[in-house]
Amino acid sequence: MQAAANSLSQQSRQQQAGAMAALPIPARELFINGRWVAPVRGKYLDVVCPATEAVIGRIPAGTREDVQAAVAAAVAAHKSGVWAKTTGAQRAVVLRAIAQKVRDNKTALANYETQDMGKPIDEAEWDMDDVAGCLDYYADLAEKLDARQGSAIDVGMEEFSVTVRREPLGVVGLITPWNYPLLMATWKVAPALAAGNCCVLKPSELASVTCLELAGLAGEAGLPAGVLNVVTGLGADAGAPLSSHPALAKVAFTGSTATGQRVAQAAIANLRPATMELGGKSCLIIFDDADLDKAVEWVMFGAFWTNGQICSSTSRILIQERVADAFYAKLKQRAQSINIGDPLQPGCRMGPIVSAAQYERVRGYVQIGLDEGATLLTGGRRPPRTPRGHFLEPTVFINVAPHMRLWKEEIFGPVLSVSTFSSEQQALQLANDSEYGLGGAVISADAERCRRVAEGLECGIVWVNCSQPCFCQAPWGGVKSSGFGRELGEWGLENFLSVKQVTTYVSDKPWDWYSPQSKL
Ligand code: NDP
Repeated sequence: MQAAANSLSQQSRQQQAGAMAALPIPARELFINGRWVAPVRGKYLDVVCPATEAVIGRIPAGTREDVQAAVAAAVAAHKSGVWAKTTGAQRAVVLRAIAQKVRDNKTALANYETQDMGKPIDEAEWDMDDVAGCLDYYADLAEKLDARQGSAIDVGMEEFSVTVRREPLGVVGLITPWNYPLLMATWKVAPALAAGNCCVLKPSELASVTCLELAGLAGEAGLPAGVLNVVTGLGADAGAPLSSHPALAKVAFTGSTATGQRVAQAAIANLRPATMELGGKSCLIIFDDADLDKAVEWVMFGAFWTNGQICSSTSRILIQERVADAFYAKLKQRAQSINIGDPLQPGCRMGPIVSAAQYERVRGYVQIGLDEGATLLTGGRRPPRTPRGHFLEPTVFINVAPHMRLWKEEIFGPVLSVSTFSSEQQALQLANDSEYGLGGAVISADAERCRRVAEGLECGIVWVNCSQPCFCQAPWGGVKSSGFGRELGEWGLENFLSVKQVTTYVSDKPWDWYSPQSKL
């Protein structure tokens, strides 16, 4: 997302360069113990390009047996100390080498990502920059970890020296979604490796290609065998046995709230910690003192980036009544101007929805909106120039009432719901009246009001006078049904560390355990 700032210059460069050819999808197996391994049951899943609906490759359909093998490899690697016993500085060298491999292979990785899940090629390239940036960031934190080892704690008794060691947890299970396939995986893999853990990654069956590539690149970059294992396959067949595996020290999950509940229950049944990055229905509040042209640009970015498939998408808009009509006119014009089509085409701003099932689901919500009595401002149809592929016009509903499913439920597609408000208090009440609490945003010329609203929003991420910028240095995560725990930043690293106190008796005197002075 940091790379989005360069969007305009990149876009114009690519427009000059012309359309990008679809690269052949590499034929890979599961990545277990540093090697490509065929799935035990010998089954594979088709990789379907959502823009063309053509089968463009295949991924292994891993099952319980493959998960067992991957976890066993990770356990062996962990016990050998080949990664866990390295210093942070040594791990940083490898993480930076992986980041460099990602940069060297950026064009191909972005091309695969776009073919696999449909996001515009410009966005896929920015994702790859962010992947490399995230690996570099956690390389820096790994290095800094060395200096934090053995930090002293003052317990107020000079007979004792108390220090803290930060150690890897062990083997961690990482389960990730399809909307930012490689970036969401990296948000977990980079801090997990920086902390010294061994990992088993289960990406979404809908978009696993680049995660398999990452594993191969990590091996080439010098990551020891067994430290990063990737098992592709269906959620029920590969994800469920991973999340319930008793050898895991932790499960880190990003995905829907419904699946997150199952994964969290599996982890807690083994008394293992879990972090949950789940769904959202984030609200952007626009006050009547806002510059509406600027506001509309943030609305577009917040609702239609990644083809509208963003967990933190500000897919609910609250516009202050006095300026609502002017806002609708600008929003309609801007939504209709989006360049939708072949996501490999330079300058494409919206590609297809990821899969046939998700396409039907999102179109179902368009019908629900109409049935519920919301007003369709624009969109809702297949764009005329896209006879094939899972394409949907950027869709905006206005007059969406708080009781409507359109307002309450995560759609995870390019469908925006707009409602109005009269007062700041009412806006906050409407924004917070949600089962979710991932993101929230406010746009206003009044800085003090923005501060109040930022404080009043019940969520983990607040954007002021913007929507969606995301930095790997800052914490990411939600409250309520959007999950628990934080990724990214120092919080992301702490998630993958175990804290051990080491208390040493340092006095020459014998310990007088029955003296009142010795009472601890
Ligand atoms: P899902 O919950 O369907 O899947 C997420 C992952 O879980 C996939 O790898 C999936 O595998 C796997 N999975 C499915 N069933 C199980 C199971 N029973 N046990 C273990 N793992 C399982 O989410 P999506 O992939 O559809 O992603 C979209 C969702 O992710 C949205 O709700 C979105 O809001 C959320 N999300 C949240 C983010 C955040 O930071 N809070 C970021 C990005 C997305 P498979 O796909 O193969 O079935």
